[in-house]
Amino acid sequence: MYQQGSSRLTINWDRESHLHLPTRALGKVVKTTKAHCNQCLDSRQHDVLHSHSEKWNSNDGGICGSDEYDLLRCRGCESIAVRHIAWCSEDIDELGAPYSTVLYYPPSISRPMPRWVHDLVTSEATSLMGDLLQEIYVGLQNNIASLATMGIRALIESIMIEKIDDQGSFAENINAFMAAGHISKDQEGILKAALEVGHAVIHRSYSPSKDDLETCMDIVEGIVETLYIHPHKADKLSQKVPRRK
Ligand SMILES: [Zn+2]
Repeated sequence: MYQQGSSRLTINWDRESHLHLPTRALGKVVKTTKAHCNQCLDSRQHDVLHSHSEKWNSNDGGICGSDEYDLLRCRGCESIAVRHIAWCSEDIDELGAPYSTVLYYPPSISRPMPRWVHDLVTSEATSLMGDLLQEIYVGLQNNIASLATMGIRALIESIMIEKIDDQGSFAENINAFMAAGHISKDQEGILKAALEVGHAVIHRSYSPSKDDLETCMDIVEGIVETLYIHPHKADKLSQKVPRRK
């Protein structure tokens, strides 16, 4: 469909690693660019369906910048996104090098929401947890790491209260939840590690890294699956399998 190589024209521009290569598709020149794809969950080659860019200057001319908006279509899965590349002459990193800010609409996703979240939302007993998890993903996808981490802590607390009722304080809830044996001894330590990150964000102004957040998500999703998803699946499985004679 797309003829690259011999039909490739000249490189249009290469700015901040966003390489644009005009190619020909069915006789029409199509610019392409590497960009993040929310469906493929990685960087992929995209067709640039439309582009609009603007330059600006401050009133005294001391600061300038530019905004570029690209309507993109992934060449792998054909999903559509808008990319905004913003540059300002004041934006320099710690080594003094200029950089651009790249935003995607819808926001770029590195971690897909599990399909079983739908099961949580549609069950009366777990709908609050499902809603909370969906909001955590909004924070995750919009790089609001502190709010997402606090949300994880709130989700863990709502799981504990659902299992052992509210014991009056967070510490008492943890103790009762552990004592009731809802999770294994190994999982206890893991759960406490996730809770500690949330505590540090709320009480010690800790700014969680992307890796911290990913680890907390792994932990809380593992616990939700253990307590709410796997038992349900195991029930359905045992009903399907013929009984021994
Ligand atoms: Zn894709």
